[in-house]
Amino acid sequence: MVAKRLLAVWAHPDDEAFGPVGSMRLAHDQGWETAILTATRGEAGQGHLVHLKAGQTLGDVREAEVRAAGQVLGVKQVYVWRYSDGGLQKVPPEELAERVLDVLRQWQPAVVLTFGPDGITAHPDHVAVHVATQRAFMKLRDEPGADRPERLYYATVRPGRQIEHPMGEAPPPLPPTTVVDVQQYETVKRQALACHASQQAEWEPLLADTDWLTTDRFFRAFPPFGPDEPLETTILHE
Ligand SMILES: [Zn+2]
Repeated sequence: MVAKRLLAVWAHPDDEAFGPVGSMRLAHDQGWETAILTATRGEAGQGHLVHLKAGQTLGDVREAEVRAAGQVLGVKQVYVWRYSDGGLQKVPPEELAERVLDVLRQWQPAVVLTFGPDGITAHPDHVAVHVATQRAFMKLRDEPGADRPERLYYATVRPGRQIEHPMGEAPPPLPPTTVVDVQQYETVKRQALACHASQQAEWEPLLADTDWLTTDRFFRAFPPFGPDEPLETTILHE
């Protein structure tokens, strides 16, 4: 794998902005090549703030929003798939994992980020993306040869943070193994969120949560985090 490449795998346009924005931008600023993938175009999301032009769909608007946020994050490549928003759990898991595997082979990241089994909000699309990415990562790890990703991280939340689960049930979030101070990127986080104008009603109430804006938390799934290991302060290992 190329030492300084990172891939973040998400389900919807805006997952990347709710997620670890500061770490993505930090990677860019430290010379990493980064990519984000969204498995859907988010066409089932909030649409009441959007004035669609003739022939335009909410999916079109949200794809443009994630591409704009990608620029704020400094990502080099934005992969946008067209699975149905809300329907990822109906896609055969092997199919989804194979498609993630294709992107891993193509992008060759050393570090892979995605949701944990809780999906942060327990959204079934998030959980499906977690399963597919974890499978694809481990499959590639098991293959002989040099082209193997080195680290798999799940985005997680500060212990005790209450998150509503309107879409489904999921296990509790995994405890952070890695806590990254991204205070210097608070403005970048706000800018990335602002790219998702159609979803303003979702993110605006969270802007009062300073910790969310200034700290990224991850669970390191691979290599497994040792019981005596001190907390990490970065995901950008070369
Ligand atoms: Zn989402």
